[in-house]
Amino acid sequence: MGKKYWAEEIETIGRDELEAYQLEKLKSQIKLAYEKSTYYREVFDESGLSPEDIKTLDDIRKFPILTKQTIRDRQSQKPILGDLVTVDEEQVVFISSSSGSTGVPTASPFTKIDFDEFQDVQSRLFWAASMRPKDRYIHALNFSLFVGGPDVIGAQNLGALCIWAGTIPADRLLFILKEYQPNIIWTTPSYAWYLGETAIKKGIDIKKELAIRTIIVAGEPGGSIPATREAIENLWGATVYDFYGISDIFGACAGACEYHDGLHIAEDHILVEVVDEKTGEPVAEGERGEMLLTTLRKEARPMIRFKTGDIVTYTNQKCRCGRTHKRINIVGRVDDMFICSGVNVFPSDIEVVIRNIEDLTGEYRITVLTDNHITKFNVEVEKRKTSTIENEKLIDIISKELKTHLGIKPKEIILLNDGELPRATHKAKRIVDIRENK
Ligand SMILES: [Zn+2]
Repeated sequence: MGKKYWAEEIETIGRDELEAYQLEKLKSQIKLAYEKSTYYREVFDESGLSPEDIKTLDDIRKFPILTKQTIRDRQSQKPILGDLVTVDEEQVVFISSSSGSTGVPTASPFTKIDFDEFQDVQSRLFWAASMRPKDRYIHALNFSLFVGGPDVIGAQNLGALCIWAGTIPADRLLFILKEYQPNIIWTTPSYAWYLGETAIKKGIDIKKELAIRTIIVAGEPGGSIPATREAIENLWGATVYDFYGISDIFGACAGACEYHDGLHIAEDHILVEVVDEKTGEPVAEGERGEMLLTTLRKEARPMIRFKTGDIVTYTNQKCRCGRTHKRINIVGRVDDMFICSGVNVFPSDIEVVIRNIEDLTGEYRITVLTDNHITKFNVEVEKRKTSTIENEKLIDIISKELKTHLGIKPKEIILLNDGELPRATHKAKRIVDIRENK
């Protein structure tokens, strides 16, 4: 199996041809939504729109934005799938369920074809992340209700030997890694770090006793922050590939290739818009904006201009790997952003700085607070056991680096000892918000 791509023709298609393909698919997706979904018929009619209004890809901007709250409301009005769906329940073979911050779950439905296409995209992303049929893959993501669970089928369809581990305790997972010697694992960046540190504490020589050579990560921006990625890579002696997924569409929609220069998003299935979150206007390549996604081929439930809550940058430039689909870089969640002195701050902006300072462990926690009616933030970091630098000097370095990178300084930098901050076993909680009237 010497092939370089999982699906060469579509992955390396010319930009013009890709956009022509997207336009055809977009027309039929909008038509399907209008003809078969009560919700879409209602909101399109209200806006005076019909499928004929799509003549170019830019025409998508005329259509209303879809929020998670709308999906939640429509599903509670018409259980269990809501009225965004375009098929009878009889044709739905799978739903994933995500609870989000409010705790009210939303269901993401798939027909048989949707599910097969979902898995084909997973195989494509796994292949780009170096997985081949000879590999042993351990899927260490939650299987319970979560859309990332079934992604393992994409690895099986690719031909890899798959171990369905799920979220078993670290001790058990390390035992399995030792026993079955898988060479590829998928988990979150914080868990990859936690697992590595746990292995070392237990006296396991990761690079000798375990076979992991590729770590796929998703769920947090860390996998695309070079210093975080390198720290995990050095700990494990492995290469880290970052993936991005969204439960309302696919388990993973985008993934890194061997050049790690942004995540290739499956643009034959998804139309991507990146817009200014205040004005809704498209932003230029390289600029930060919120990502809106439109499905192009979903049968069960088209998603038209779904507001992801993720801030990204993008490029349409062809990658060195030869793939032509848009590449995105995840900056963070809109919800995790705070504004301080007019600067939009994401935890990932702070992480970039912290991970690059050798005297720190890389763990950090941000506290956002109100000081004299103004939003400020403190950063807690850990000094490495092996570091010999004076505390004041180290704080001064951190403060200067943050100022250079962000343009602002924290109110206070709190230096802790190695191991004092809590270690995440799934997603790290990096922000504590204690502002008044937030
Ligand atoms: Zn590439």
